[in-house]
Amino acid sequence: MESVKRTSFDNFIMTAVKKFGWTEQRIKDELRKQYNSYDPKQEQVYLHHLQLLKDEEFAEEPEEKARREKLAEEQYGPKICPICGALTTPNLGWYDKFSHIPGWTCNAVGIRHFLWWKINNIKRLRGEPILYPETHPILEHDDNRADTQASA
Ligand SMILES: [Zn+2]
Repeated sequence: MESVKRTSFDNFIMTAVKKFGWTEQRIKDELRKQYNSYDPKQEQVYLHHLQLLKDEEFAEEPEEKARREKLAEEQYGPKICPICGALTTPNLGWYDKFSHIPGWTCNAVGIRHFLWWKINNIKRLRGEPILYPETHPILEHDDNRADTQASA
C-alpha cells in the first residue's frame, strides 16, 4: 500500500511540475505548507490550491515588471552621447550601483564614449580639465540624479 501511495504521489508531483512549471521541491513545499498528508482523492483540491498560488504569482508579475522597468529607466543615463551627440542605449552592465551613475553605450561608437565620459567625470570631480571633448556635455553632474539628459 505504501509503495502504491508513493507512486501515486510521485505521479501527482510530476503532473504538477508539468502543469505549473515549478520544481518538484517547490510544489512539495507549497503542498506541505497547506496539507498534512497526501490523499490521492484530494488531487483536484491540491491542483486548485497550486493554481491559486500560480495566479497570485502572475498577478504580481506586472508590478514586478513595472519595478524592473523603472529601475532600468533610472539606470538609463543620457539619451544623447555627451561625446558625439549620437543616441545611446542603456547598458545595465555598466550601472554603478555605488554612485548610481547609469551605464549606457553610444550607438555610433559603442562603449568607448561611455568610458571617455566616465573619465571626464572623474576629471570634473577633481576640478581638472576634461580629457575628451564633449559635443553634448551634460550640464548637471549630480551623482544622485540618474535621469540626467543632454537636452536638460
Ligand atoms: Zn558617442
